[in-house]
Amino acid sequence: MTTPSSQIAEIRASVAHLHAELLRWGLVVWTAGNVSARVPGEEMFVIKPSGVSYDELTPDSMIVCDLDGAVVDGAYSPSSDTAAHAYVYRAMPEVGGIVHTHSTYATAWAARGEAIPCVLTAMADEFGGEIPVGPFALIGSDDIGRGIVETLREHRSRAILMQNHGVFTIGPDATAAVKAAVMCEDVARTVHLARALGEPLKIEPADIDRLYDRYHNVYGQR
Ligand SMILES: [Zn+2]
Repeated sequence: MTTPSSQIAEIRASVAHLHAELLRWGLVVWTAGNVSARVPGEEMFVIKPSGVSYDELTPDSMIVCDLDGAVVDGAYSPSSDTAAHAYVYRAMPEVGGIVHTHSTYATAWAARGEAIPCVLTAMADEFGGEIPVGPFALIGSDDIGRGIVETLREHRSRAILMQNHGVFTIGPDATAAVKAAVMCEDVARTVHLARALGEPLKIEPADIDRLYDRYHNVYGQR
């Protein structure tokens, strides 16, 4: 049987490893960006420490917080985005993992406050429509978390572009949220390039629905 402490040790290791994935996929520079994972069945999540270099992130340096963002266990202060993660976990019980990056192409869309239109079948698959824009919000209050929750409740997308800031993604677990962050940057780059040379062709909403349904219910290994 899994005890809470061995469960938390596994999640610390997983969250540390997923930060290396952000580097591997070129989504972060310096100490920007963070991944968190909910501790299933507990009112807690595991998140990156603030301001620690990606090379120095280890399972032991991860921080365990409660759903108010207060530190339960950890030697460092938690990521400065902890309040936003905590808000999303409180408001969206189905969310098991959250990622935040300033990945270049997606954040260029955020800088213009422009949603990424669903003009690729890969976008229909992963996001089920456009990747929406959330409000401009300053760090340090619940404004970022509230903006994420209120915007994503209206969309199927697991990714949101917070205006003038960057990307937040959610998923049933932290790996799914990292995948959404990787895919968000990929489609942001492709649609940017498409638009630079012309007007991307729309996909009919009924076809977006079919693609999304197939990808989430049929595709892959069962
Ligand atoms: Zn940020």
